[in-house]
Amino acid sequence: MRLPRKLFASYVLLVAASTVTLVVASDRSLRSRLLQEATVEVTRETAYLARAVGTLRGAPLDSLVHQLGRTTGRRLTVIDRSGVVIADSDFPQDELPSLENHASRPEFREALAGRTGTDIRHSVSTGRWEMKVAMPVAGGAVRVSTPLPQVDAVVQDAQNAVLLGGLLALAVGAVLALGFARSVARPLLRLRDAAQSIARGERPVIDVRGRDEVGDLARALRSLEENLSGRMAELERERSEMTALVASMVEGVIALDAGGAVTTLNPASRRLLKLAPDAAPPAALELFRQRTAREAVEQALRGEETATIEVELESRTALLSSHPLPDGGAVLVLHDITGLKHLETVRRDFVANVSHELKTPLTVIRGYAETLAAEDVPAEVRRDFLDKVLANARRMQQLVDDLLDLSRIESRAWSPRPERIPLGPLVHEVWSTLKPRADAARLTLSTRIADTMLYADPQAARQVLFNVLDNGVRYTPDSGHITVLASTGPAGVEIEITDTGVGIPGEHLPRIFERFYRVDPARSRELGGTGLGLAIVKHLVEAHGGRVEALSTLGAGTTIRMLFPEPIPH
Ligand code: ADP
Repeated sequence: MRLPRKLFASYVLLVAASTVTLVVASDRSLRSRLLQEATVEVTRETAYLARAVGTLRGAPLDSLVHQLGRTTGRRLTVIDRSGVVIADSDFPQDELPSLENHASRPEFREALAGRTGTDIRHSVSTGRWEMKVAMPVAGGAVRVSTPLPQVDAVVQDAQNAVLLGGLLALAVGAVLALGFARSVARPLLRLRDAAQSIARGERPVIDVRGRDEVGDLARALRSLEENLSGRMAELERERSEMTALVASMVEGVIALDAGGAVTTLNPASRRLLKLAPDAAPPAALELFRQRTAREAVEQALRGEETATIEVELESRTALLSSHPLPDGGAVLVLHDITGLKHLETVRRDFVANVSHELKTPLTVIRGYAETLAAEDVPAEVRRDFLDKVLANARRMQQLVDDLLDLSRIESRAWSPRPERIPLGPLVHEVWSTLKPRADAARLTLSTRIADTMLYADPQAARQVLFNVLDNGVRYTPDSGHITVLASTGPAGVEIEITDTGVGIPGEHLPRIFERFYRVDPARSRELGGTGLGLAIVKHLVEAHGGRVEALSTLGAGTTIRMLFPEPIPH
């Protein structure tokens, strides 16, 4: 049942119960009061009649009784000691023998005992409710009987009035109760609606006021809602912050629930696991093929802390750390170390290469030096040995110089200080240092540079041109030709140095700019190369913001193309 109806029903019941109680109570109290009064009156009359019967002794009893009965309007009975009626105002003398013996009547017995006896009962002779009052007289008792219809009538009237009043009160009360129930229930119903909308996550309207308990409840609900929505906003902010954080993390983050299902998979982890951005995530144990990785995930899902392990993914290497969550599930973090691993390999290879490159000339120098020191070597042989020692020392010197150059360029300590320089004179200046060797091999140079102006660090540009032209001289057989072309375009100055040399096989082309990478190591060493020339070129050009590439046809020649960008105007 709804609240207003409940309240209404209770008010109506209350009024009805009060009315019934009032009717019953009025019946009881009025009846007893009336009977009390009747008893007093009839007792007084009985006493009078008893005295009259006693005083008028000698007169014919029957006519006296009838006379007194007529005068008072009561039934008057005279009963002898044995209970036989000897006179009765309601019956003639000749009918008296037919009346019952009164010896057992309670009022009569009281009177015989010398007291006033009173009784109210349903009379067999008159068929009505009657009050009987008996008093002792000489030789028996006198009894006055009076019917009680007045009492019933008065009580009935009073009850009718109370009932009418009760019905009226019920009607008025019902109307008032309806209004009251509504006015009490309305704010409560509004609070219920407000609480329901809070539960649905909406912002409720709480417009209940007042200083009573309902008002207090409304205020409590309002502050609860304010606290709740503040907390919710805070949680929402923290959640989106966390989502953004996880999404933007370089590390792959994977969250698993207690059942091992993937609940979060950030973009980095999708990249590492080679999963499409919209692909459904696989089950936790299918994330990794590596057994140790699967064991680590299982362990974390069992709530155990695990050590960080290295896992091999599709094409990358990562460190996997798995952390169990307090309420079941786990968080897996993948840290991509492919780059680090590559750097490590490069570093190891570099150290091995440097050691090897230094070891070869050093072994040669030591060999010749030991021979020279131990044996008595003829003068011309000694000369030859010393030349070899010197050549290898120069090679070592060259290697160390190149290494120092490379490390200087790679370290952030160095940066190009570009300026405008005419390219033509620079090319000829560099060529002049190579000319003796070029002439010896009958190599010629032609340039198409015009008055190209290069925007570059002069020292770096000189070194770049030297390294490339030096390669041209070294890898071009006798009577070959080297061309330098320069053109200025919107992107900057492009320089192409082409030789008619041995060329580079296609599969080696992408790698010739790596440190110590040589197509033919033995030949390079023989020609005095260190394997670092093009690596230095690449670093220097890129330090200017430019780029370098190699094009080659095996047996026909090689072109090294470099772009030096124009400065961005301020
Ligand atoms: P190197 O000191 O060995 O010449 P570089 O870094 O200058 O080292 O060149 C790397 C490799 O590229 C060389 O060993 C050589 O095999 C190849 N190379 C470079 N320039 C030329 C060229 N002009 N013609 C043919 N091969 C070349």
